[in-house]
Amino acid sequence: MSTTTSLRPTFTNKEAIIILRQQFGIIGEVTLLDSYIDQNFKVEDEKGKKYVLKISHPSEKKEFLDAQFQALELLRQNCPQYHFPRYIKTIKAKNYFTITDKLGTQFFVRLFSYLDGTFLSEIKHHSPEMLFNSGRFLGKMGRALLKFDHPALHRELDWDLKNTLSSLDRIQFINNPHQRRLVEYFLLQFETMVFPELTKLRRSVIHNDANENNLLFEINGSEKTEIKGIIDFGDMAFSNTINELAIALAYLMMNKNEPVEAAQHVIKGYSSVLKLETSELEILYHLIAARLCISLTMSALAKHREPDNKYITISEKPAWDLLEKLIKVNPVLAEKQFKAVCNIKASPKNTELDPSQILQLREKHIGKSLSISYQQPLKIIRGALQYLYDDEGRTFLDAVNNVPHVGHCHPKVVKTVQKQMAVLNTNTRYLHDYIVQYAQRLTGKMDNPLQVCFFTNSGSEANDLALRMARTLTGQKDVIVVDSAYHGTTTADIEISPYKFAGKGGTGCEPFIHKVEIPDIFRGRYKSDDPDAGEKYAGHVREAIAEIQKIGKNVAAFISETLMGVAGQIVLPKNYLKEVYRAIREAGGVCIADEVQIGFGRVGTRFWGFETQGVVPDIVTLGKPIGNGFPLAAVVTTKEIADKFANGMEYFNTYGGNPVSCAVGLAVLEVIEQEGLQENARVVGEYLKGKLEELIGKYPLIGDVRGMGLFIGIELIRDKKNMEPADSEAALIVEKMKDEGVLISTDGAFHNVLKIKPPIIFSKANADFLVEKLNKIMDEIAN
Ligand code: PMP
Repeated sequence: MSTTTSLRPTFTNKEAIIILRQQFGIIGEVTLLDSYIDQNFKVEDEKGKKYVLKISHPSEKKEFLDAQFQALELLRQNCPQYHFPRYIKTIKAKNYFTITDKLGTQFFVRLFSYLDGTFLSEIKHHSPEMLFNSGRFLGKMGRALLKFDHPALHRELDWDLKNTLSSLDRIQFINNPHQRRLVEYFLLQFETMVFPELTKLRRSVIHNDANENNLLFEINGSEKTEIKGIIDFGDMAFSNTINELAIALAYLMMNKNEPVEAAQHVIKGYSSVLKLETSELEILYHLIAARLCISLTMSALAKHREPDNKYITISEKPAWDLLEKLIKVNPVLAEKQFKAVCNIKASPKNTELDPSQILQLREKHIGKSLSISYQQPLKIIRGALQYLYDDEGRTFLDAVNNVPHVGHCHPKVVKTVQKQMAVLNTNTRYLHDYIVQYAQRLTGKMDNPLQVCFFTNSGSEANDLALRMARTLTGQKDVIVVDSAYHGTTTADIEISPYKFAGKGGTGCEPFIHKVEIPDIFRGRYKSDDPDAGEKYAGHVREAIAEIQKIGKNVAAFISETLMGVAGQIVLPKNYLKEVYRAIREAGGVCIADEVQIGFGRVGTRFWGFETQGVVPDIVTLGKPIGNGFPLAAVVTTKEIADKFANGMEYFNTYGGNPVSCAVGLAVLEVIEQEGLQENARVVGEYLKGKLEELIGKYPLIGDVRGMGLFIGIELIRDKKNMEPADSEAALIVEKMKDEGVLISTDGAFHNVLKIKPPIIFSKANADFLVEKLNKIMDEIAN
């Protein structure tokens, strides 16, 4: 199918009737049929015999008409039990002839036999037999065509799966950012995993368009729907043999609860006549997705051209539904299932290590102080937006990883890294556009005084640098920190992280570090019913300042997260930071906001956590989501502080702020904006929190549900009075959630807070799935 719709033939019914009489000796009635670029008339002669009169688009080539004729003859001879259109010869025994319209344009005219039957699109119930028989039909057609070739079929079509990447040009016409991301993700997979393999696969002539309006069936009772044949050979091409099956599957899998199971029946049928090769089965999943991407970008383009055509929107719905379902299917599972029906055993690629080998090698070569999640560790092999796939074929909804902020393998981010890596990656002592453009863009997201950036590679480095700045600036060493906080892994960061220095293996609090009570209005000294809790907790910071001053020193800095992560998903009470910052500044100290976990729109209502407290910090540290997984982090501060920090000692960071990092940083900011993700975090976060709050009354174990946007904590307690932390229950729930396909984890000083902080592309449907599973598990635990 060419996309050229101009110069379409526009002959009248009357003219068609004349053509039929003069050229074919047929006298009959005609009705115009819907068609893409040709003009088709349904014909019924005096005896009730039916035909299709086809006037082709002027771009049609004579050689292609010959090729089609030969292919149809071959199929008629080799697959006599099925129906294919037949060329009806003219009175002069010709297969086709040309006519000219008023403007002098020439068109080829053909008459085909008419195939009675029911289209796939009209059949609701698809029995396993029907699916199997459809596959067998495709196999038989494929086997017959293996023997056929024609030079006219070696042509380039946008609809040919080997040209799937031409869809990239049409992506812009998909308006919904969520759908655009989905298509872009699959196209990225196609480009990476499939495209390089295609040239190695067998090729042959294929029909190339076994869609729901071309596959014909005969209905003999509800269970007895038989495949009858196929029409419209206008897209025929010499392509990869497997594409025929992939295209048909894209339609046969639509509207199914278990699309992979439906595909299995079709594949089984196909391979019962034409053996599928292992390499074909390995990419079939992605080829099916590729067909959907071509089709959906084509409809997006069509909609762009004809915005009022409602039919396009209706017809694409099942394709969107299937693509949404496909991303939840681990390709490893699909491959396994596809191979199983072909009696091919899925074997691991010989470069892959099984989990036990990895564990052994970790034991030997990786430091022991690194823990592994879950009793049965997961071997995650691929990330797909908000989903993770493991080596066994399981799919997990990722509700815990906040680093892949805009989604695992977000196509725009991946492309950015690939491209800049191929162009330049060097250090910041050369002039480069991106570092300044990124700094400008990033500081544009902050309040006015925060205008100067320092780039690092990790949140730890950022906090370490922020500390050094505060100490250089004030000439003081003492730092006030919040209990249970975590700020990083360098020596200085551990010193300011009670979670570490007071935890297992910690060496305790240094004399120059001053820990204040955590402003926790659920478990702490001042609770949610105290309207002045924020001020009262801040009072403890004033006390700490006084203690420091009592011994003749002063405070260098106060550092805290703006919503606390590791400490247990704690939302700071109103006015807390306002009062703390006031006290610190009065004493001449520096206020550092650690936004490593929480920044970049996660809280929904605001871009930064500190904005929810109505404060402007002196120094902000950024990490994790900033590069969507690429090592990038930053310190943002005022010009005044940055200037004072420049005391002669150079700040140079080999990797920090390199062109690739800055390109990624820019891409992440663009994605958040273009896809409206801050708003998504707000809407979906509110929705999810609301659903979780409903569970509070239902399960006594749930003591508190708190959070903002897509940063949510569920605190589990054994009893309301003593609030005994339900840590083992929390651990059990995390394990069971994993078994149900949802990844969350625990946090907090007592490890009894379930933490939810997914990529901020999380959808309401994802939220529903999470709550459904949590409900199920809470019920199991309660009984
Ligand atoms: N600050 C906070 C609040 C964190 O949660 C973390 C990491 N968990 C860090 C800093 C350290 O970041 P990184 O691991 O990138 O060094």
